[in-house]
Amino acid sequence: MEFNFYSPEEEINFAPITSHGVRLFMKRDDLIHPFISGNKWRKLKYNLIHASVTQKKRLVSFGGAYSNHILALAAAGAKFGFKTTAFIRGEEVSNPVLEFCKLFGMQLIFVSRDAYRDKQNCFNHYFEGDNETFFIDEGGYGQAAAQGCREIIDELNHTYDAIFCAAGTGATAAGIINALAEKNLATKMNVISALKGDGFLKAEIDRLLVKPHTYELFSQYHFGGYAKTNAELLQFIQRFATETGVLLDPVYTGKTLFAIQDYVSNGYLKPGSKILMVHTGGLFGILGMLDRFKDLYR
Ligand SMILES: *Cc1c(COP(=O)(O)O)cnc(C)c1O
Repeated sequence: MEFNFYSPEEEINFAPITSHGVRLFMKRDDLIHPFISGNKWRKLKYNLIHASVTQKKRLVSFGGAYSNHILALAAAGAKFGFKTTAFIRGEEVSNPVLEFCKLFGMQLIFVSRDAYRDKQNCFNHYFEGDNETFFIDEGGYGQAAAQGCREIIDELNHTYDAIFCAAGTGATAAGIINALAEKNLATKMNVISALKGDGFLKAEIDRLLVKPHTYELFSQYHFGGYAKTNAELLQFIQRFATETGVLLDPVYTGKTLFAIQDYVSNGYLKPGSKILMVHTGGLFGILGMLDRFKDLYR
């Protein structure tokens, strides 16, 4: 399996942040692959390797109707020679993300919100006793995902005073924290939750840590909840795209950069400090929200 890809570490000049005298860099994981985007590639990597070594033929996972993870799984399965099945939460719908999944040959099984809660049961119902299928948890969460994401830090050319990364399941953050801990780096890790009521997120991150390590979890940048947004956030994303040529999604990375701006404006970093934002990709999230951007141009 060939996992070579391109994810440069770019310095970005964006006045709302850099006018405070700090330097902003981005780890451009959004450029890894158009569909196996950002952290989803990294989270799948060791799952794909395990599945291949154990001679599995089909990858099975779980997600919502706009899941970046499911889209990544569909494209990765096709690329690396696996069949794929996804259990999608809620009644049957069609949207651009799911249509792309089908284009990559993925089988979609829609399950009620109630049934979806018991993932093992969903899996068993269709695949019990089938030892050629490989179970991947919702959002790709797990030890293998964290293992893939720690490589973000291994690839860096600079050292940073602070790193910022979005979190859904927390596996990406855990991988980064593990790398910082093992390399004894003084870099402060800041995790921006995309969820409202993320009471379990800290526990989910901690469950994947190889040893305890401090990090900060920011819970106040969800803009009303998961995948919720408002005009202020959309305007911020639009300004950033216009001034830097880098797109952010409204679900994760837009909120993360917004948090960075807030953090820097509050003077938490000395002038001259270097910040890294991990661009976790997920730009297909915009597809569900293009209508909202239209309102900006009226
Ligand atoms: C899935 C996703 C995340 C969340 O990653 P976790 O490892 O689940 O915390 C962050 N950013 C983007 C763009 C994503 O698609």
